[in-house]
Order: sequence, then structure tokens, then C-alpha cells
Amino acid sequence: MSKVYEDTKFLMKKYGITANKKLGQNFLIDETVIDTIANASEICRDDLVIEIGPGLGTLTDKLLQKAGKVIAIELDERMITILRDRFFIYDHFEVVNEDVLKVDLKELIRKNKEKLKLKNAKIVANLPYYITTPIIMKLLEEKLNIESITVMIQKEVADRLTAIPGQKNSGSITYTVYYYATSEEILTVPNNSFIPEPEVESEVITLHLRKEPPIKVADETKFFALIKAAFMQRRKTLLNAIGNSGLNTTKQQLEQILQELNIDIKIRGEALTIDQFAKIVEKL
Ligand code: SAM
Repeated sequence: MSKVYEDTKFLMKKYGITANKKLGQNFLIDETVIDTIANASEICRDDLVIEIGPGLGTLTDKLLQKAGKVIAIELDERMITILRDRFFIYDHFEVVNEDVLKVDLKELIRKNKEKLKLKNAKIVANLPYYITTPIIMKLLEEKLNIESITVMIQKEVADRLTAIPGQKNSGSITYTVYYYATSEEILTVPNNSFIPEPEVESEVITLHLRKEPPIKVADETKFFALIKAAFMQRRKTLLNAIGNSGLNTTKQQLEQILQELNIDIKIRGEALTIDQFAKIVEKL
């Protein structure tokens, strides 16, 4: 039995915790994986770390050893008591008892970086899998002042996020990730690295936020709406998928645009490169 397994069992017994499946509670018990996440995030004392879903504080403990400050955002009130008990000696620890999707992260980061004169902000988490996509979308779309996102997520989702747009495994979120960040697959994690064991395999990935987007997009809202519409009906051709998507264009106009751009009018949205989507938006 590893020490982290024993510590986890001890905390669960002491505080009468049973994992809440609805909150995606799968606690890490694999020391190597915990170290890998902490190392991959390359945290130093100049960094503000936002941890999403700290749970019992297993990863938090490691982050506190490296960061300038750790702000842990946790929805489950039972965990808040544990985290406060465990880390009350640390001045550079703060816990926020809220749904991460409702937290004004931009303001939280701005305030703390300014007050503590910290250089960078980084997100680190073993994410609750039931809301992986909304969390990643929030972290990217809100254009937060952060350097990187190191997260454990379902392997299948990781494959989608880190795919090359227009190639195998890509979905609409692939384009969003590629637009805002470069991605790195760090480690595949087996189910038995957690208690209770999740039903799916997991993966640790890091997203490094880009300073500038890789391509020029005339209208970001239209660009992402077009990609989303194309993937909503990914088995259809782009022309048929967009026809009733509510985007301000007709099938005829779009057909003309595709012809002008020398793109096959029978192409499916999922086969378009990010560049081609950008060029279509420019002409819309
Ligand atoms: N970090 C711990 C670990 O690695 O052992 C726990 C990770 S567990 C997969 C996900 C955590 O996210 C749980 O503690 C859960 O209560 C928390 N959580 C679930 N939904 C949340 C939300 N909307 N906002 C913040 N935390 C949430």
C-alpha cells in the first residue's frame, strides 16, 4: 500500500467521506502521477496556481511546496473543512467554495497577481470529468491571463483536445484548443490510480497558451459558430450542415465561397483545416 493511498483512506475515514459520483470524485492515490502533474506544470514561487477541484488536497499539498500562492476552487463543502484543517498553517493557500464555472477567474487572477506581485498564473487540476469540456472552454474563451493549463482528463477527451484540426480524432473543441494554445500529452493514467476507479482511462495534458493566435480570424464569433455548426452534423457536407445553422448565409453563397477558395463543395466540415475555416469566415 502506498503512503498516499493510506493518507487518502485515513482522511476519508476521519471525515466520514464517501466519494460523490455526481461530483466526479475520483481521488488520486498514485504518487508518480501526482508528481508528474506537479512537475509538468513547471510551477515556481513566482506563480499563482489555481487548482480546480482539490478534493481531499492530495495534489494541493504538492502544489503548495512549489507555488507562490495556491487558490483551490472546490464545490463540495465537506472538502472545504478538510482543506482548511490540512493547510491552515500556510499563508499562501486560499480556498474558494464555489462552482468553478461561476467563478470570475479573470478578476481572481488579476487581484492576486497584482497584490502578491506574482509573474504568472497557471491552472492545475485533476478535473471532475462530468464537466471537463465546459471547464476547458471557459478557461480558453475567457482569455484569462494564464500561462498554462495542466489537467488530468478522460483519455478520449484528451485525444480530441490534442488532435490536429481536420485530422483523426478532431472535433469542434480541437479547433478552439489549437486557436488558443499548443498542446502536449504528458502521461496516460490507468483506472487503478484512483479511488474509486473511474470507468475510463485518463490522461494528463498541458496546454500552453499562445501569445498570439496561429492564424488571423476576421470575426471570432462567426469563426467558432461556423466550426460548431459544421461539427453538429459532422456526417453531412459542410454545405448541408451550414444551410440550417442560423449563420447569416445561404447555401448558394457558401457554395460560391467554397468554389472561390478551391475547396470541394462536397467536403465535410470535419475535413477542413483551421486555415480554411478562417478563409471562409473572411468571405462571409
Ligand atoms: N484533486 C483531487 C484528487 O486529485 O484526488 C480530487 C479530484 S476529483 C476528480 C474532482 C474534484 O472536483 C472533486 O473534489 C469534486 O468535488 C470537485 N468538483 C466537482 N464539480 C466541481 C465544480 N463545479 N466546481 C469546483 N469543483 C468541483
